Amino acid sequence: MKITLWGVRGSIPTPFTPLGMREKMRKVLSLATPKDIASGEAVERYLDSLPFSLRATYGGNTTCIEVRTAENDLIIIDGGTGLKYLGAKIMGEDFGKGNGMATMLFTHTHWDHIQGIPFFTPFYIKGNRFHIYSPFDDIKERIEYQQVFSHFPVNLDYMFATKEFFVLEKESEFILNNIKIVNKRMRHPGGCFGYRFEENGKSFVFTSDCEFNIDEIDNIDTYADFFGGADVAVFDAQYTFEDSVINKVDWGHSSASIAIDISTRFNVKKLILWHHDPEHSDKKMDTVLSNAKTYMNMDKKRRSELEVEIAYEGMEIVL
Ligand SMILES: [Zn+2]
Ligand SMILES: [Zn+2]
Repeated sequence: MKITLWGVRGSIPTPFTPLGMREKMRKVLSLATPKDIASGEAVERYLDSLPFSLRATYGGNTTCIEVRTAENDLIIIDGGTGLKYLGAKIMGEDFGKGNGMATMLFTHTHWDHIQGIPFFTPFYIKGNRFHIYSPFDDIKERIEYQQVFSHFPVNLDYMFATKEFFVLEKESEFILNNIKIVNKRMRHPGGCFGYRFEENGKSFVFTSDCEFNIDEIDNIDTYADFFGGADVAVFDAQYTFEDSVINKVDWGHSSASIAIDISTRFNVKKLILWHHDPEHSDKKMDTVLSNAKTYMNMDKKRRSELEVEIAYEGMEIVL
């Protein structure tokens, strides 16, 4: 299984700003010594030595994940604005010739998880085929409704790829192209479903948009099978600890410390913090990761097995 993250931002697309760019350039230039820019190779080495927030950007596109099975079958999770860029890439494959076939899974239909669909070029190409799954009974109507004429000039039916919709039984599992896919209900306004994928003894869990508050923690063992022993879990950590327990209770998201606690409890091997707050700058995201690592070190003995990373656009995970 190979997983690529195309959109990692929550709530609303968050383009990098001109002022932010200038600030970053100022910092990078002011930190450089003559030795750092003495040659092309020195510049590369210097850039590699900088914190992620200075040498790159975590990205501003909303949720979209590409999963490739061992047989290279394509499964797309959610259609936030990252879907536009995944679409551009796969247009260079069979999808550009109208021979493409993919599965799409939707966690829920908040805007940040569907707003890339009208700009997903492979949907416009006759001959491409998409099987679209979700546990929501009215998934077809929800996707269509985004493209009624008052919202967008092209109706879903005028995107000429074949799109077949399938409703998944809630909290069930099914086998698709040799991958076992389990869906699990998450606490989130309007509802949301996480997915667990298992293939060739490896497991990947994706829980975007979930709030594990006090009530949920009381029932945490009902999530044991879903998270249990996952090789990688991509987990909603939009909020800071203060937001999740004081300022934004019941807003539907979790924090890095909650993600770490749950991952530790269920022996997840690698946790990837996800669904970044649109208010968070790249620098703030560096801090989110370093705070998460500090939290890990506060109970090193119990948490030492867990590896923690933070999602960025273009991140690839191979299992
Ligand atoms: Zn979201
Ligand atoms: Zn949501």
